[in-house]
Amino acid sequence: MKKITIAIDGFSSTGKSTLAKQLAKHLGYIYVDTGAMYRAIALFAMQNNFISIDSLDKESLVKALPNIKLQFHFNADLGYAEMYLNDSYVEKEIRTIEVSSFVSRIAEISEVRSKLVEQQQEMGKNKGIVMDGRDIGTVVFKDAELKIFMTSSPETRAQRRFEELKAKGDVVSFEEVLQNVQERDYIDTHRADSPLVMADDAIEIDNSYLTREEQFAAVLELSEELINSL
Ligand code: C5P
Repeated sequence: MKKITIAIDGFSSTGKSTLAKQLAKHLGYIYVDTGAMYRAIALFAMQNNFISIDSLDKESLVKALPNIKLQFHFNADLGYAEMYLNDSYVEKEIRTIEVSSFVSRIAEISEVRSKLVEQQQEMGKNKGIVMDGRDIGTVVFKDAELKIFMTSSPETRAQRRFEELKAKGDVVSFEEVLQNVQERDYIDTHRADSPLVMADDAIEIDNSYLTREEQFAAVLELSEELINSL
């Protein structure tokens, strides 16, 4: 059976990764969360004091890039891969509000983007992949057979994220999460290199009013139609 490439882009906390994981599992495809890669670089920058609220030592970070090893290791219990930074398990650290507050500034750096895009293209060279991020359909896999662009209101997204963080035991306020979502939207859509924009040939899904099941069923149908037409 021929395989396709599925690119899922969109704003923060639109449920991209949930959808991408479900699809990959159902189709027997590889799932890649590119946000985790940008988050791991942000964590590295924090650990090395290259970034703070009011400063960013871009030069030192760019110089250190060749020493940053990012790997995904498949976790059979969870059914998807988890992020390792220089051989350390960082899946928990990269999901904190601190990393979220720095990651978009790291993702603006062209040298960071080109390193990660190259790795992402390598991972998807044999197709059979579902990749989620901000530039998958516009930069990483311009020829992806299926491109999905996910949106919903900032308040809906912040509420979802707030509940996830609260469930993990993080002490955050809804306002803090909403502010983070809005800041990331702004930086992601205004950066010079690969801004978040919907590809001309993407299908937009506004999931404010769709359940996860409805969304998954719709995208699975599109994927299967495409696969069967090959
Ligand atoms: O998907 P997630 O919210 O984990 O991504 C974290 C951040 O990484 C985004 O807000 C964005 O700044 C950056 N990112 C990106 N390009 C991607 C994936 C993520 O710029 N392909």
